[in-house]
Amino acid sequence: MLVFEQIRAGGDRNFGYLLGDRDAGVAALIDPSYSPDAFAERAREQGLRVTHIINTHGHEDHINGNARAVELTHAPVAAHPDVPVSVDVPLADGVELAVGSLRLQFLHVPGHAPDHVTVYEPRHQILLTGDLIFVGKVGGTKTDEDARIEWGSLQRVVAAIPPAATVWPGHDYGARPSSTLALELATNPFLLCADLTAFLGMKREWPAYKKRLGLR
Ligand SMILES: [Zn+2]
Repeated sequence: MLVFEQIRAGGDRNFGYLLGDRDAGVAALIDPSYSPDAFAERAREQGLRVTHIINTHGHEDHINGNARAVELTHAPVAAHPDVPVSVDVPLADGVELAVGSLRLQFLHVPGHAPDHVTVYEPRHQILLTGDLIFVGKVGGTKTDEDARIEWGSLQRVVAAIPPAATVWPGHDYGARPSSTLALELATNPFLLCADLTAFLGMKREWPAYKKRLGLR
């Protein structure tokens, strides 16, 4: 039986997740960030042993709870090998990680951060997008080159993950706390772009676009 909780971690509307298998009595903490105690407590309350602490990417607001989470759970840290913290289980592109009967699959999706991965659980079609896809927008990029890389990552995710998958982002930046890939493909202005040129244009126009629509 699936255990899946979206947890408000503090910070800049950060979201982290508890994902586990109740029958096996195990779970992973994903980006516990500002609230490692609360995440470990949710696992403990449900009798779940934490087998992994997973980071979607190496930005400070996603990894800053690792040390405390490790202290509380003694679980190994799983992340892309390039994140600026010590990694026990390197998550290269295509790696699969077992959490009880769950098989978590990782895609390397650079752009917003060079060490970014998405986490996908195929049986329940749960996609944790970190700061790659938010509800209604995508992760910020600093240069056109990073934006080009992010565009490639978005295309990979769209090609690899079924549209019915639910989308669970790393921040509560949208009109809703979660979405589906199909809904994002139909409504997210960045995923509606026909090509890279349109995507780069949308990135440039975004501040004005946002203001016009009254988005935060
Ligand atoms: Zn980030």
